[in-house]
Amino acid sequence: MAPPDVTPLRTPGPAPRVLTVDVEEWFHVCGEDYYSDPRRWESFPSRIETTFRLLLDHLEEGGHRATVFFLGWIARQKPHLVREAVARGHEPAVHGDRHRRADEMTADEFRDDLVRARASIEDAAGMRCSAHRAAEWSIRHPGDRALAILTEEGFACDASTTAVPPLGHADNPLGPYRVSRNGAGILEVPPLTGRGFGRRLPVGGGWPFRILPESRIAQAEATYRERGFPAVFTFHPWEFDPEHPRMDGLPPLLRAVHFARLSRLPDRFRRFLARGRCVALADVLPSLVPE
Ligand SMILES: [Zn+2]
Repeated sequence: MAPPDVTPLRTPGPAPRVLTVDVEEWFHVCGEDYYSDPRRWESFPSRIETTFRLLLDHLEEGGHRATVFFLGWIARQKPHLVREAVARGHEPAVHGDRHRRADEMTADEFRDDLVRARASIEDAAGMRCSAHRAAEWSIRHPGDRALAILTEEGFACDASTTAVPPLGHADNPLGPYRVSRNGAGILEVPPLTGRGFGRRLPVGGGWPFRILPESRIAQAEATYRERGFPAVFTFHPWEFDPEHPRMDGLPPLLRAVHFARLSRLPDRFRRFLARGRCVALADVLPSLVPE
């Protein structure tokens, strides 16, 4: 496959902060024999109802809007949660169906997973979804086949690549960009990154957001926004639920990352929301122009 044209983008003035939520259960880890097997999922206790509503309540207090990436599996199990997110003003989007990494599926598997997820989420939402995020930042490079498939399937936006190795190539763009092939294109909006522990990290979510000094995260956000790069933050409902099952069978490193400082998150998140209003991806896309 020929490499695509990549056009770096930015907003004309300072960029907004963008909030994204990946709606998955506590057991939706990637690439793990026990928890990642969908045949077990219905036997695990579901905790998404409470945790997702808590998150939506936090957002409503400050008038924040988010892009909410649902797993297709969640949309079939709990379609009312998709409807509730839409009714409360958020942008519904697609996080794949079975939470498999994009680069661990064949092209046909990726397309099937994508199409099935989108149908389930759109059925529940009662509207079209045009944004996608792969599980665990698993579109590694702008030239990956997954982005070509997303373009063919009519997605306007993807938010799955990052310049943080080993999740993505170190030379991937830090800010948003357009990937075009044969006149058709898709906008890619990577997550906020910054420095921590002597290297580049995805500081807008996950364990770096929970562990690094808040001043460091705020500084990374300011740097992005001043350059015209939307500062994309990402949270999961299970991160607000430190009491979820302990997952003793997980490999130690994966378990340490999953549970790191969960009890800190609610207070950090409240302070984060108080520092400025968040918007959804759909709110920022029309304002992107070539850098
Ligand atoms: Zn995920």
